Amino acid sequence: MRSFKSILLTGGAGFIGSTLLRKLLERPDVHRVVVLDAFTYAGDRGNLTGPDQDPRFHLVEGSINDAALVQKTLDDYQVSGIFHLAAESHVDRSIIDPSNFVHTNIGGTSSLIECARSSELPLLICSSDEVYGSTPVHYKFTESQPLRPSSPYSASKASADLLALAAVTTHLQDIVIARCTNSYGPRQHREKLIPKLIHQALRNQPLSLYGSGQQIRDWMHVDDCALGLIAVFERGTQGNIYHLGASCESTNLGIARRLLKLLHKPESLITHVKDRPGHDMRYALNVSRSLQTLQWKARIPFRTGFEAVARELASRLRPS
Ligand code: NAD
Repeated sequence: MRSFKSILLTGGAGFIGSTLLRKLLERPDVHRVVVLDAFTYAGDRGNLTGPDQDPRFHLVEGSINDAALVQKTLDDYQVSGIFHLAAESHVDRSIIDPSNFVHTNIGGTSSLIECARSSELPLLICSSDEVYGSTPVHYKFTESQPLRPSSPYSASKASADLLALAAVTTHLQDIVIARCTNSYGPRQHREKLIPKLIHQALRNQPLSLYGSGQQIRDWMHVDDCALGLIAVFERGTQGNIYHLGASCESTNLGIARRLLKLLHKPESLITHVKDRPGHDMRYALNVSRSLQTLQWKARIPFRTGFEAVARELASRLRPS
């Protein structure tokens, strides 16, 4: 049984990390959560507002690449388990310059795996459906699907997964991997699809979609994602990979249309721009293993979840 007593959460000031932080603090068996975050452009101190009033919350500002700091943090806070979410996470940026992605997602994860090994700590790696590349129509990838990443971002995540699996085989480390589909929810950075479209719509600016906008993603509420990560850490078997998804597919064009309807804006705002190189058409995960073994399932229906999130994001992104 992995202990939730003192958790190190990397990337806790980001989108999914700040939701996971809140979910962890709801658990009575969590005595301490230490957020380690480098506060890159994607990390936001405001995302910690609320949880930062909880006496069990601690913040360490620094990078996962700093092994001495990570080791000191593990010792100082007597950490009992690690949730690793810190990453460079935006595909577009990885296409312009992959160096930060290699440094953080591969180098940083490798360093963190080593620290977990020297302290004999269980480690959860938060990975992505993007590591498999595009999913054919009418098909869903299982966990044994070979990795065929299309972007520097997804290649860096796949590399991190492989390092983690190698550590399980070589050093018998206690590591579990969660591969998640696209999350939507509050506190997401403005550069990501849904907040970006809302920001543009509220300013009556063109909603720019790559290519035809027919790319399909499986959308999962971030609360479901965070609870899934907790379930993987709590019940996942050492060395196993678990898919977290909501089986709720929508095209990017469909997302844009929904948002415009909600915000009472015309569909004529939608514009199509040159497609991103290597853009995967579809991501779809088979989540049977997670449903059967984790006692977890995505519960928030897309229609209600999406509407509430869109309204919340709209109130934050409204022009002042
Ligand atoms: P995010 O970009 O919102 O947050 C990333 C956080 O990591 C930020 O707070 C940032 O400051 C921090 N960080 C970056 N480099 C760091 C470093 N070197 N040391 C310490 N902290 C650092 O990302 P997110 O969307 O919350 O994603 C979290 C994790 O989930 C990532 O590993 C991502 O690959 C994975 N994931 C996300 C999605 C999604 O839909 N958002 C889907 C699948 C997988």
